[in-house]
Amino acid sequence: MLAKVNSGCIAGMNAHSIDVEVDISNGLPGFSVVGLPDTAIRESRDRIRSAIKNSGFIFPNKKITVNLSPATVKKEGAGFDLPIAIGILSANGTIDQELLDPLLLCGELSLNGKLKSFRGALPIAMSLREKYKQLIFPKKNALEAANIKEMTVYGASSLSQTIDHIKNIKPLKAVQISSKRSHSDTQETVDFKDVKGQEYVKRGLEVAASGGHNILLLGPPGSGKSMLAKRFYTLLPELSSEEALEVTNIYSVAGQLKTLGLMEKRPIRSPHHTISYAAMAGGGSIPSPGEISLAHNGVLFLDEFPEFRRDVLETLRQPLESGEINIVRAQASYTYPSRFLLIAAMNPCPCGYFTDTQKNCQCTSYQIQKYLSKISGPLLDRIDIHLEVPRLNYEQLSAGRIGESSEEIKKELIRAASFKKNASEGNPNICPITRIWPQRKLKSSVLSPKKRKNS
Ligand SMILES: [Zn+2]
Repeated sequence: MLAKVNSGCIAGMNAHSIDVEVDISNGLPGFSVVGLPDTAIRESRDRIRSAIKNSGFIFPNKKITVNLSPATVKKEGAGFDLPIAIGILSANGTIDQELLDPLLLCGELSLNGKLKSFRGALPIAMSLREKYKQLIFPKKNALEAANIKEMTVYGASSLSQTIDHIKNIKPLKAVQISSKRSHSDTQETVDFKDVKGQEYVKRGLEVAASGGHNILLLGPPGSGKSMLAKRFYTLLPELSSEEALEVTNIYSVAGQLKTLGLMEKRPIRSPHHTISYAAMAGGGSIPSPGEISLAHNGVLFLDEFPEFRRDVLETLRQPLESGEINIVRAQASYTYPSRFLLIAAMNPCPCGYFTDTQKNCQCTSYQIQKYLSKISGPLLDRIDIHLEVPRLNYEQLSAGRIGESSEEIKKELIRAASFKKNASEGNPNICPITRIWPQRKLKSSVLSPKKRKNS
């Protein structure tokens, strides 16, 4: 008997539709999977056999051949467990083929027949929404996929529950998530008013937040670079629905989605300086998104900037320019979005005290030059704002003055955004915040009055 089940697998940010064909024939008992499966899929044989038996069904003691079509597409992940198991039961006569035709199935099985989540549920649902109208995913993935309104999404917790639903013995309830996004849990624990002094640096960060400029913070250890960067996140606007979908998609592909439904906060990534090239850009034979893509629509904070490996830093050049990264592998090339705001923090010299007024620097000029030359000119050129963060003395730190709170600064930024909008609509009034940086050449043409006049 032959059966066909519809499934899908991710390829970069998109998904392929995959037909899972199962044939059961007489002959020596065996179980083979063909059609470019990876190790996880080849190992699924043992999981599926146990899952079917432990769900109370009979595993056919015959020759089973599973074909994942199209054969030219390389498949990976454990998401094919459920469609293969359902295919075997259909070929065995347990489930009618007509019931399977309108359905899209994906999910990993555990030995006891329970369903486990897999990565990439949202892009699969998004890419195949035209083709299939109903979808059965593991419960956690169903909540991701329910963001796609064109499909009826069902969340199952086990193989037997899936079969009961397909055979209409005990139908599942379609998963619904409210389209209204709540920002109630976005309460920040840090605030700009905690920062004493550093008014000039704070102003610079405001400008960066209003115009979306990359920043380099330069200062001795203990001057508060990390503290300032941490508070920078509180100035960023909420994600729009479109941005939220993009970000959730990337986290779904990477298998790092922790929220139910769409992500609401802008992502913040701060990888350690020992990070490898593959982890930063995206790695694997079918590459999974790296840190720069996980920071899409958010902030990438790189502390100890010159300590990162040269090739890792040079990876940033393409995304800083074009907002995406192109990774080429033997089978295909994959493009991941990576439009992030870069905050780099560094010491002015290897010992850290070159610009410090309280401690003496022990470095030779050669050492300092070598240290600073670790960051290439083209990379430095892509960072619009360079800020020196001085170390404050005791009097400055203990002064009673409380600075502006994040909430107040955010109001200013919203005002700046309205100026920017006017400027882009042909109004000569340029965002007033940018006037405090007359010497610095800002990249965005909207923010640069000179460039606008010339053009
Ligand atoms: Zn030094």
